[in-house]
Amino acid sequence: MEPSGQPLADVARLRDDALRLLSEQGASLADLASAGLSLPGPLDLERGLVIRPPNLPGWDEVPVRDALAHDLGCPVRIENDANAGALAEWRFGAGRGLASIVYLTMSTGVGGGLVLDGRIYRGIECAAGEVGHMPVEWDGEVCACGQRGCLEAYVGGAAWAKRLQREAPDESLAVEQAGGRDRVRPEHVVDAARRGDAFARAEIDRYIHYLSRGIVSIAFTLAPEAVILGTIPVAMGEALCFAPLREQVRALVWSQVGARMQILPAALGEDLPYLAGLSVALDSSQSLTEEQ
Ligand SMILES: [Zn+2]
Repeated sequence: MEPSGQPLADVARLRDDALRLLSEQGASLADLASAGLSLPGPLDLERGLVIRPPNLPGWDEVPVRDALAHDLGCPVRIENDANAGALAEWRFGAGRGLASIVYLTMSTGVGGGLVLDGRIYRGIECAAGEVGHMPVEWDGEVCACGQRGCLEAYVGGAAWAKRLQREAPDESLAVEQAGGRDRVRPEHVVDAARRGDAFARAEIDRYIHYLSRGIVSIAFTLAPEAVILGTIPVAMGEALCFAPLREQVRALVWSQVGARMQILPAALGEDLPYLAGLSVALDSSQSLTEEQ
């Protein structure tokens, strides 16, 4: 749903959407046991607030949890979208059946969620799992967060697009594909690399090199059964991304961990937003807030 800039009007639209979905299933509000929302952070989970996310203008300490609980007449849980995505991939997707996974969103930025021993791990200020801001280079590229050398500054889609629009040579197939250097985006590079373009190949090598640095830190900190990667790596696929990435990570971690820690593409694709909300509704690690 596109935000209107009027938060409580958007909450009312959420209610209308929920009612429509229920009636499509031949159900009513009385059948709802709980509802879950996947939202851009930062959130205040204690108070059920959305706290000024950069991409939701006008949402300033909006009590979305309690407003929707009131409208639906059932308990509501909220969760930030990276954590909700991690829960969804763990419950329904690539992490099904595993105890501990790390999920990385890998689209415009790099968000992360940790499911450890079957529970979301949030840490202080819900800042656990912000692996996009782990340094992979000292004094490296400036990141959108203001620090230097963050993983996101190398493998986030927005940061990568900026670099491509600065560096791509005119003769690259990626530039031709995009219709001009200032329009080159990661998808053009992926396509050009498949067609053997030298610049695109080198860019993908660089992407995998930095991504492997990030995953090595995850391996030594958490040793999860799987690291699950969404969006850009999924679009790159097995040959361009996952096969070389696994090889590089295995060369840099202890062999017994490298042998068991899987690196997998996210499995839910376009169903992710829906299953993320459902996973939040089902997440027993967060206490349910009764209708106000
Ligand atoms: Zn950063």
